[in-house]
Amino acid sequence: MSLRQLIILGCSSQQPTRKRNHGAYLLRWNEEGLLFDPGEGTQRQFIFADTPPTCVNRIFISHFHGDHCWGLGSMLNRLNLDKVSHPIHCYYPASGQVYFDRLRYGTIYHENITIIAHPVHKSGLVEEDDTFRIEAFRLEHGVDNFAWRITEKDVRKFDQQKLKDKGVQGPKVRLLEKEGKISIDGSVITLDEVSHIRPGDVFTIAIDTLPCAAVIEAARNATLFLCESTYLEEHRHLAKEYLHMTAKQAAEIAQKAHVQQLVLTHFSARYQDLDNFAKEAQEIFPQTWVADDLKVFPFPKKDS
Ligand SMILES: [Zn+2]
Ligand SMILES: [Zn+2]
Repeated sequence: MSLRQLIILGCSSQQPTRKRNHGAYLLRWNEEGLLFDPGEGTQRQFIFADTPPTCVNRIFISHFHGDHCWGLGSMLNRLNLDKVSHPIHCYYPASGQVYFDRLRYGTIYHENITIIAHPVHKSGLVEEDDTFRIEAFRLEHGVDNFAWRITEKDVRKFDQQKLKDKGVQGPKVRLLEKEGKISIDGSVITLDEVSHIRPGDVFTIAIDTLPCAAVIEAARNATLFLCESTYLEEHRHLAKEYLHMTAKQAAEIAQKAHVQQLVLTHFSARYQDLDNFAKEAQEIFPQTWVADDLKVFPFPKKDS
C-alpha cells in the first residue's frame, strides 16, 4: 500500500530556532515523494525523520527567498550522490531561473541525475500526467511566489460483489470499462451499475503571502491545506508590513475555501510556544493542526 502522509521537516520562517529548522515539507503520495520549499538543513532533517531522500521525485519552490530554497542545492547533490535513477521534476517561478541555476550549480560536482525543470511563468495549469494535475496560483508577497494545488486523478472503483452477482469477471471487466456497457446472457450491464468514481484528493500549499483571492482559490475544497501563519493576531501589523498572515487569517481562508484540514506552519522565531497558533485558528476553523519539526500528518483518502 502506498504511503499517504505529510512529513514536516522544518517549520520556521526566515530564521531557524533551537527547536525549529527552516521550513521543508515532504508529501508521500501514491508512491511519489513531493518535496516543498527545502530550506537550509533539509538533508539532515530527512535523517531525523527516518525517511530516505531518494523517495523524492518532485521538488517545488514557491519563491526564492532563502528560507524556501537554501536546501535545494544540497538536496540535488544528495540525490546525485545516491545515484537515483528516476527523474527529478523541479517546479519554480520562471523569474527566479538565475537563483535556480546558482543553487543547482553552486558547488563542484558531476551531475548524473536527470533533472526536468518546469519554470512557471503564470498562474494556471502547470502539468497534468497520469498521476496528478498540478496548478500554480500567484500569491501576494512582493516577489514572484506561487501556491501549488495538486489534484490526484479520479479513479473508478469496482464493487467486487456487484461484479460477481452480474457475472462480470476476468477480461469482461476491462471490456466493460472500455465500452461503458456489456451484454451477458442477453442482459445489458452498465459501468455505473457495478462501479463508482472516487474523486481524487487535493493538497494545497501556500507559504508567504498576504490574504488574497488567489490563496482561497488555490485551497478550494482541498483535502489538506498547508498554510503559512507567520504571526499571531497581536502582531497583525507586522504580518501586513512583511506580506505574511496571522493564524486567524489562515483559518479564515480555510473556512472560506471549505477545506477539510488546515495545517499551520512558517512560524516567526519570536514565538517559543506554538499553542496560541492552534487556539487562535481553531476558534474560526476547528480542523486546524499546528506543524512542528518531524511531525507527521496522515493524509487519508476521502473514501475507498
Ligand atoms: Zn518565508
Ligand atoms: Zn518569502
